[in-house]
Amino acid sequence: MKERLIIKVGDLIYEKVDAIVNAANNSLLGGGGVDGAIHLAAGPELLAECRTIGGCPTGEARVTGGYRLSARWIIHTVGPVWHGGGEGEAILLASSYRRSLEEAVRVGALTIAFPSISTGVYSYPKPEAALVAVTSVKYFLNSHLELSEVRLVCFSEESATLHCQALSRL
Ligand code: ADP
Repeated sequence: MKERLIIKVGDLIYEKVDAIVNAANNSLLGGGGVDGAIHLAAGPELLAECRTIGGCPTGEARVTGGYRLSARWIIHTVGPVWHGGGEGEAILLASSYRRSLEEAVRVGALTIAFPSISTGVYSYPKPEAALVAVTSVKYFLNSHLELSEVRLVCFSEESATLHCQALSRL
């Protein structure tokens, strides 16, 4: 059977998938990192739609159109800020992946691409975040055979290696 969990190096905004996931913040009004790149590439209509949503709690996900991106949908999720690991960060990060995938299923997206949520400005340690990412996605895929591919799009070789190592430990 074809592998449905793909780990690759790349720039999320160029992924040819039904839905890309944005590592957003609680306001959903744009920010730095991958969020800034997505808003820049999608165009100002994205911000206009985001304004109508009224924010998003940490660990949750909200869907918008993809506008000028090739992806039809953008799933905005808010990962946790790392505070040392004792404030429920792992549960919140797993929730971000699960809720994003649930929203993807709800709208009918079959191919989804994720960035490494929380590992930039939000400072989640990359090896631990990679383990949460691969565990959450693999678990979800087991019970959702309708999804054809989930890509974890890493911004560096180092990040991709961490994800591959985490996957090999499952
Ligand atoms: P967060 O606020 O959730 O930490 P960031 O956008 O700061 O989100 O970073 C999340 C991860 O996305 C980081 O590992 C960063 O290197 C990566 N990243 C930034 N830009 C892109 C991009 N265009 N495509 C894929 N990954 C990206």
